[in-house]
Amino acid sequence: MPFEALGLDPKIAKAVREAGYTEPTPIQTKAIPLVLRGHDVIGIAQTGTGKTAAFVLPILQRLSTRGSSTNRRVMRALVIAPTRELVVQIEENVRKYARHLHLRIATVYGGVGERPQIQALRAGTEIIIATPGRLIDLMDQGHVDFSGLEVAVLDEADRMLDMGFLPAMRRIVKALPKQRQTMMFSATLSKEIETLTNEFLSNAEVVQIGRRANPAELVTQFVYETTKEAKLALLLHLLRDATLDSVLVFSRTKHGADKIARKLSSSGINTATLHSNRSQSQRIAALKAFKAGTVRVLVATDIAARGIDVEGISHVVNYDFPPQPEDYVHRIGRTGRAKAIGDAISFVTPDDRGNLRDLEHFISRGIPRKVAEGFDASAYKAAAPTMTSWRPSRPSRPAAVRPQRPNTYASSRPQSGSRPASGSRPPAGGNGRAAINSTPRFADRSRRRP
Ligand code: ADP
Ligand code: MG
Repeated sequence: MPFEALGLDPKIAKAVREAGYTEPTPIQTKAIPLVLRGHDVIGIAQTGTGKTAAFVLPILQRLSTRGSSTNRRVMRALVIAPTRELVVQIEENVRKYARHLHLRIATVYGGVGERPQIQALRAGTEIIIATPGRLIDLMDQGHVDFSGLEVAVLDEADRMLDMGFLPAMRRIVKALPKQRQTMMFSATLSKEIETLTNEFLSNAEVVQIGRRANPAELVTQFVYETTKEAKLALLLHLLRDATLDSVLVFSRTKHGADKIARKLSSSGINTATLHSNRSQSQRIAALKAFKAGTVRVLVATDIAARGIDVEGISHVVNYDFPPQPEDYVHRIGRTGRAKAIGDAISFVTPDDRGNLRDLEHFISRGIPRKVAEGFDASAYKAAAPTMTSWRPSRPSRPAAVRPQRPNTYASSRPQSGSRPASGSRPPAGGNGRAAINSTPRFADRSRRRP
């Protein structure tokens, strides 16, 4: 979709094309028409999604097509951003997008002389991009006239809150005309941001792109309680299930990845590895074989797996539980793509419990625990050479056409005899968390914000 289709002036669309943009990003596609219609907008999208143009382009449109109501030179648009670096960056963008228009633009931030900034404010520069601190200084000195202001933007509002700018934001917004259009942008939509929305915006339209903190909704996630020693055997046990037909296994280390791959291969499972000790051509070959389906299991480290996009991954196995919630979200984002139904399985040892708690907090939901049925780690050590006999006999089906996979390897009831690691139970009642069992927990808070 070209930028003109959003209702933007050809002069603006031309500048955007010259900036090298061929089409609007999702946040731009959603937000620009709303802003052009005059709505207050709260835009939520992660860093790097093009939020700047989402507010700058419609502002330019407004300023270029409508003269100021009073015909005098006044500040008509104000953008507030948390740091001078960001202010400078936004200014560069504004200048780029406004290059075929005749608008005056100036910045206001600390650490540099006030004189030129005061002059720009006194001259009635149409677009001012400012940090809260210096703007307040200049307001206090009586250099700022907001009477002709039409649009205000609070960019990176979440960061401004983190940096303690709430009182400054309040003072600035209070000084603005009541009749105005207000926009707020943030990478996250927290309770605090929602409160600000109610305070600073009126009847705001919420535009939210890709809730980053929430893993792909189509991915079913669960956790196996295990021990370090039993992990390999548990993985082999799970791989007896033929529906795990295209499995991405995450290992924390390269060495660990090699070890897992060796074990799986020696058990007759076609396995490849993806990590930075492997040459580029080896990595490409591994990915190709995995995509083609000749390799059933790809064992990867986080760094190597970043950005890989393989369609039809049926399962992601967090063999080593990621310490960072963001890594978990990235990992499981590999499955459930293109509407495939994918499972994300995590092995959790007693050492991982704190990280699991952090993750559940981060994604605002609990992850159900499962118990591997009929799993006995000791049997697997002895049985390793005969693993080939466990190869799937059923034909494997593509992930997308098996919405109701039979629950062959998991039980919904705890079975004390089949527990892979009964010694890994946390002391009951110690911190209010019951011993791990296989029934989904936290069901009551699964939809609640932490
Ligand atoms: P955010 O504020 O969401 O972090 P930015 O507005 O800084 O993101 O944009 C991130 C990068 O994407 C910038 O380099 C910007 O020039 C570029 N960009 C923005 N919109 C587009 C687009 N429609 N097409 C291509 N690149 C874009
Ligand atoms: Mg930004």
